[in-house]
Amino acid sequence: MRPDMLSTALLLTLPLVFSSSVADDEDSPRHGAPDLGDAYFPGLGNGGYDVKHYDLVLDVDMETGAIEATATIDAQATHGLDAFNLDLWGLKVSGVTVEGVAAEFAHDGLELTIAPDSAIVSGADFRTQIVYAGVPDLAPDASVSSMGMKGTGWMRRESGVFVMSECVGASGWFPCNDHPIDKATMSFTVTVAKPYTVAANGILVEETDSGDARTFKWRANDPMATYLATVNIAELELEVSETESGLPLRLYYPQGTTDKSLEPFRRTADLIDHFSGLFGEYPFEAYGAVLTKEGLGGALESQTLPVYSRGAGEGTLAHELAHQWFGNCVGIEAWEDMWLNEGFAVYASWLWREHTVGPEAIEKSVERAHRWAKQAEIGPPVDPGVGAVFGGATYGRGPLVLHALRMEVGDERFFQILRTWVKRYFNSTATSADFIALSEEVAGRELDGVFDAWLFSETVPADVPANDVPKSE
Ligand SMILES: [Zn+2]
Repeated sequence: MRPDMLSTALLLTLPLVFSSSVADDEDSPRHGAPDLGDAYFPGLGNGGYDVKHYDLVLDVDMETGAIEATATIDAQATHGLDAFNLDLWGLKVSGVTVEGVAAEFAHDGLELTIAPDSAIVSGADFRTQIVYAGVPDLAPDASVSSMGMKGTGWMRRESGVFVMSECVGASGWFPCNDHPIDKATMSFTVTVAKPYTVAANGILVEETDSGDARTFKWRANDPMATYLATVNIAELELEVSETESGLPLRLYYPQGTTDKSLEPFRRTADLIDHFSGLFGEYPFEAYGAVLTKEGLGGALESQTLPVYSRGAGEGTLAHELAHQWFGNCVGIEAWEDMWLNEGFAVYASWLWREHTVGPEAIEKSVERAHRWAKQAEIGPPVDPGVGAVFGGATYGRGPLVLHALRMEVGDERFFQILRTWVKRYFNSTATSADFIALSEEVAGRELDGVFDAWLFSETVPADVPANDVPKSE
């Protein structure tokens, strides 16, 4: 994510211990945990199963804002289950089946509790279907309250609906295991009246016309975190292109968008090419952008299809693109490690400027971030507190950790660390401790000095990270 407030403040283009589950006893089904123990969001996520695929069928009434929906969720039990939970905020559930048999359910707050007719055996694949309806509301989200936002997720504006769910907005529009640790593939079948268009994650596999309405079927084949799912419904123009290697690119924008506003987005293939050289091959099946008519308070790196507020430029594009490697492909295991998303994305936008403008551009960015961090006495990037995950610790001090590491180990090892990071945790999740261990492994030595000063220290080091490494390294 890149909040607008940060870009104006600074012109800068996030290891937790989960409550360990009781030792698996396959013979005695029990209630899956209603919570994954993430310190920042009590009640978020659920235990006892691992989601493999979400299939969402949504009929959207753009006049009333109401949806009629069916969610089909394929999951695998990680222990025997006589009941389990999903996260769902608002909306009314009218029926639930498990393996095709009606199941008892109760919906209270964020928790949808489901008791299947017969217990699910440990390790079994099982299908749950939830029929629900209502007008989706923003899910309350403590991570954005300091930005004056009521919540995240399904955002209704005059021009249409846009979905930006970081951190916990996904539960406001579909029942899910709403935590980055449980990635799954997804498909979306959305029916909406003409002239609206639907842009979602992955590949548009089918578009059918039924007279007054159209149905858009999207499929995301790369596993993703729930907060990265997006469905956007507006009157949108579409430009389709592809990179030299054949990666499909889709640019959705409102009628009347100027060529000047589209210009940075039309350079997307160049950015993908440059970042692929630095971080390894682009990790997903497609890429693109949705530009909104209104300001939404920032941009979000929704997987394969970021959503941008009106007026977003090349720095924001570089930031959201970098998230496809850092945050999306390599996800975080807990929200207190948000710097692993945002510090990397901010630093990547500096790397793009270094490439297009020159070394002095990144030096300036480093100095500016360092000055900001010192003046505002910004605390360490790791574990900034839920109200500060979109603040200076992650966006200001976060990228400085990476710059300090680069100065310490040199360019060759630094980029080797980034590429190894993506390779090792590809389509998975990792922690700050994992990053430190991997950095030290690649560097072949302890890096306590760098991480103590830049990642953990309450006080900002007095000087910007300096290049101490001999060129011969
Ligand atoms: Zn971001």
